[in-house]
Amino acid sequence: MLYKSTRNSALRLTSAEAIASGISAEGGLLVPEFLPKIDPGVFLRQSYEKRAETVLRLFLTDFSEQEIAKSVRNAYAGGRFENDAPAPVRPFGKEDAYFLELWHGPTCAFKDMALQLLPHLMAYSLEKTAKDETAVILTATSGDTGKAALEGFRDVPGTKIIVFYPQDGVSAMQKRQMATQEGENVFVCAINGNFDDAQTGVKRIFADEEVREALSKKGMRFSSANSINWGRLLPQIVYYFSAYADLVDAEKISLGTPLNFVVPTGNFGNILACYYAKRMGLPVGRLICASNRNNVLTDFIRTGVYDRRRTFYTTSSPSMDILVSSNLERLLYHLGGEDSGKVSGWMRDLTETGTYTVDANTLAAVQSLFWADFCGEEETAETVRSVFRDFGILIDPHTAVAAHALESYRAETGDRSPAVVVSTASPYKFPGSVLEALGQQAPEDDFEKAARLCEYTGQPIPKPILSLSEKVIRFTKVCAPKDMAAVVLDAAGV
Ligand SMILES: *Cc1c(COP(=O)(O)O)cnc(C)c1O
Repeated sequence: MLYKSTRNSALRLTSAEAIASGISAEGGLLVPEFLPKIDPGVFLRQSYEKRAETVLRLFLTDFSEQEIAKSVRNAYAGGRFENDAPAPVRPFGKEDAYFLELWHGPTCAFKDMALQLLPHLMAYSLEKTAKDETAVILTATSGDTGKAALEGFRDVPGTKIIVFYPQDGVSAMQKRQMATQEGENVFVCAINGNFDDAQTGVKRIFADEEVREALSKKGMRFSSANSINWGRLLPQIVYYFSAYADLVDAEKISLGTPLNFVVPTGNFGNILACYYAKRMGLPVGRLICASNRNNVLTDFIRTGVYDRRRTFYTTSSPSMDILVSSNLERLLYHLGGEDSGKVSGWMRDLTETGTYTVDANTLAAVQSLFWADFCGEEETAETVRSVFRDFGILIDPHTAVAAHALESYRAETGDRSPAVVVSTASPYKFPGSVLEALGQQAPEDDFEKAARLCEYTGQPIPKPILSLSEKVIRFTKVCAPKDMAAVVLDAAGV
């Protein structure tokens, strides 16, 4: 299996090269040259680890079976995930609907599913492609990626990790998780700006010849832990196969029944992994893309016009406060006939004018697979409240955005096929918003909020959140977006 770029179809890289570099040199994203087919029946009655090994082997053909097995074991076994169950499916309470809970890892968000595995794949990739070089992992985060990446890469030999997050764009608990990060190879900095400023700043540093040169002289090179890295997307394909197999195993569906998936979406990584699973042969019905008030994707899927020139809102689901969804580029490449010239043109339009419009064929292909809706702050809170009231399940605001989209999808289309709502974070990462949604007064202090929420709902506080209160704050630096490169050089010791 080799990888090509969405902006250069002629390129061919090995998976180790794709993972080590993160992004293609001309700015495109790396995609597999074809999507292998697999019978979803092979995953029945298997452990999550076995399922992960099977999927990974199809794509990482330059890795040995032992390298894959060891990486998977280090990521998902050994107590990193609660009850050693990385991705449990539980009934929603609604008719033929389920939650796929992806937040039982060390940082309580679905980013752990990929970021517990990526560092191991990265270490092997560096060994195969760039012996003796140190990888500087540069990451922009809207809250959850940063912490999950820090936790995944901390003290991994041959790596340093630097995370930028928007000063006022993450929850207090998320900030606390990052500011208290332990490890000798980690650095965290807030920026005065929003997530898009952080992401643009990081992309600019990646492309900055001078900075790359300075690092290279010291035996260092950049890589990325953002979902533009193929090593982030690949682990996410696994849980779609796993959820499907679990539902067949539990006799909730029979093998072959189409299952709809509802995914709370920001950078389009999670839902893209579901699209890949479908292309590989998983019986996925409709891919339902749920957005918050920053509804640029809803508009795009409905009209074919991507337009980022709009007000940016800070919401109660901050990990989806994004106006430039990077991974959409991959989808457009696949659905637009794998024409890298066309994709380059759209991306150039986006950079130069803030908008692009896809052709009718591409739009028709998008609409034949996806359905989209968004929900405002009031509806998000109302959904948290009603799901708890009616079904006794406590969900976080991101998951609520998706649960709401399932409701609108069923009402509008009448399609009542079995559906899985992807649950992406523990409610305890956002205790203030969740308490308010439940109509409760939120105390000032974060940990008191969590305690109050626990008292009111009887749902246990995850250990990683509980233990935060004892950790020392290590990182307090804030910088302007224009100073990010200087911060990077300083943190890398150049
Ligand atoms: C990152 C994140 C999302 C959005 O996922 P994408 O892959 O960026 O679309 C949704 N919910 C939570 C809790 C997240 O952390």
